[in-house]
Amino acid sequence: MRKVAIYGKGGIGKSTTTQNTVAGLVEMGKRVMVVGCDPKADSTRLLLGGLAQRSVLDTLREEGEDVDLEDICSDGFGSCRCVESGGPEPGVGCAGRGIITSINMLEQLGAYDAEHELDYVFYDVLGDVVCGGFAMPIREGKAEEIYIVVSGEMMAMYAANNISKGILKFAQTGVVRLGGLICNSRKVDNEREMIQEFAKRLGTQMIHFVPRDNDVQRAEINRKTVIDWNPQSTQAAEYRALAKAIDGNDMKVVPTPLKIEELEGLLMEYGLFN
Ligand code: ADP
Ligand code: MG
Repeated sequence: MRKVAIYGKGGIGKSTTTQNTVAGLVEMGKRVMVVGCDPKADSTRLLLGGLAQRSVLDTLREEGEDVDLEDICSDGFGSCRCVESGGPEPGVGCAGRGIITSINMLEQLGAYDAEHELDYVFYDVLGDVVCGGFAMPIREGKAEEIYIVVSGEMMAMYAANNISKGILKFAQTGVVRLGGLICNSRKVDNEREMIQEFAKRLGTQMIHFVPRDNDVQRAEINRKTVIDWNPQSTQAAEYRALAKAIDGNDMKVVPTPLKIEELEGLLMEYGLFN
């Protein structure tokens, strides 16, 4: 089973990209579980058709320890398995801890057991800074293969660089590796070339360039992935290509984060100043 985590700046498109990629993988016949690790609990909405699902932490709070797997895990598009970790009560407790509590609970309940024949688990993780709680899945060896969603916007690249620093730190003592950057386009000038170069300097690859397309919003309003809502669309083909690239990816590296000056230099070279 491949243990994948998707990181990136808030609002960059992690949940959208994760769910659409998972839809592509299940179309390929893969067995996938998605674990949402954002207190917003919106990581599986498009796969579940908007069905509200009780989060692991809410279930634990309400039912105590006596929880069945079926209470926290629902089947979504193409029979993918969907879980939302949920969050602590606002202002109390550490959300990162909550993620580990959820993953431990899933392990105890046998969610990862061979009988489920999972090819992949995807963790959709909130947060742009890898310090503190949100590094938990990496730190505890729960996620081994990281993809960072990024765009040509400075703050998204800055976050991706920080996340790479976190991966570097934990790669030295653990198994975690960077699988690539997913460019989720914001239609910035020279975006493709810039992110390709950024990836190269990080020692990794741009695994796919996902165009910005309003079909994403149209599908979202219908509570579906693009692949589910309009399988013939060009955007659906992009997500299938991304799924295929991840499935065939054998480039997993310890990243080489950039110094801030180098990152700014990249933006000067490719960005708005040309
Ligand atoms: P995150 O999980 O990183 O916070 P989301 O996946 O919720 O981000 O994405 C934020 C919004 O961006 C979504 O509501 C979605 O409509 C939009 N979005 C994401 N990717 C694309 C895309 N390729 N084209 C158009 N809109 C997109
Ligand atoms: Mg999200």
